[in-house]
Amino acid sequence: MILLDGKAVSAKTKERVKNEALNLKNSGIEPALAVILVGEDKASQTYVASKEKACHACEIRSIMHRLPENTSENELLALIDLLNLDDSVDGILVQLPLPKHINTSRILEAIKASKDVDGFHAINVGKLASGLDGFVPCTPLGIMEILKEYKIDVKGKNVCVIGRSNIVGKPMANLMLNADATVTVTHSKTKNLKEICLNSDIIVAAIGKPFFLTADMVKDGAIVIDVGINRLEDGRLVGDVDFDSVAPKCSYITPVPGGVGPMTIAMLLANTIKSAKNRAKA
Ligand code: NAP
Repeated sequence: MILLDGKAVSAKTKERVKNEALNLKNSGIEPALAVILVGEDKASQTYVASKEKACHACEIRSIMHRLPENTSENELLALIDLLNLDDSVDGILVQLPLPKHINTSRILEAIKASKDVDGFHAINVGKLASGLDGFVPCTPLGIMEILKEYKIDVKGKNVCVIGRSNIVGKPMANLMLNADATVTVTHSKTKNLKEICLNSDIIVAAIGKPFFLTADMVKDGAIVIDVGINRLEDGRLVGDVDFDSVAPKCSYITPVPGGVGPMTIAMLLANTIKSAKNRAKA
C-alpha cells in the first residue's frame, strides 16, 4: 500500500505557483486574490486566514474584505461588482457559508466567471461538464493533481464517487469522466452502494461521515481517496474512510490529515495564477 502524500504534492504545487507568480510580477502583472468573509464563523475565519497566509508565501497579493454579519445582500453584491471591474484583481472568492439572510447562489453567480477561482459559477460548472477549459473547484482538482503526481491513469477505470455536492462530488465525477474513467456517482439514496464500491478500481469518499467506508466495501488493490474532514468528540480529525481496516487492502490511499486537505488551497492559488496568466495574455 502506498500513501498518497497530499502534503508533499501541495508543497510542490505551491513552489510552482510561487515561481509563476514571480515570473508574472517580472512582466508587470502582480497576481491578486480577493477574499470576502461575511460574519464571525470561527471555521471560516481559520480557512480565510490560511488562504491569506498561503497567498503571502506564494507571492500572490491577498486582498481581504472582512464584513460584519449584518451586511446586506446588496452591499455584498456592490463589493463584488467593484472587484469584477478592478483589472488588478485576478480571483474573487466568497467564503461559504454565508449568513442565512444572503442568497448564496445569487452571490456566486454575481462573480465574473473569468475571476471565479473557486469554479462555482454556472458558466464554469457548464464548461467542466462540457469538457471545456474553465475554473474547476479546488478540492476535486487537487485530487486529480495528486493522481497525476503519482502517475495514476484513471482511463478505463471504474470510479465510484460517494457524494454529489456541487463543491466535491459532482465536479469530481465530471473530471473523472473527462479523463476517460467509467464513473458512478452515489449518494444517500443509492441502494446498492457496497456492490458498486466492490466493483470500483477507485473510490472517492466525500460524505462527511467518519469511518463510513469500511474494508468490506473495498476490493483488493483499490485506490481510495478520502475527502472527508470530521472532528471527533475526542478532538481527533478523521476522514470518511475507516483508514486502519481499509488501507491494507488498497494499492494507494490518502491519509487524513495530510491527503486531500492540503491540496485545496494549493489549487486555489494555482487557479489564481491561471487567471493572472489570462490577464497577461489579454
Ligand atoms: P455535503 O454537501 O454534505 O455532501 C455529502 C454527500 O454525501 C451528499 O451528496 C449526500 O447524499 C452523501 N451522503 C450522505 N450520506 C450518505 C450515505 N449514507 N451514503 C451515500 N452517500 C451519502 O458534503 P461536501 O461538502 O461534499 O463534503 C463532504 C466531506 O468532505 C465533508 O467531510 C467535508 O468536510 C469534506 N470536504 C473536504 C474538503 C477538503 O479540502 N479536503 C473540501 C470540501 C469538503 P445526498 O445528496 O443524497 O444528501
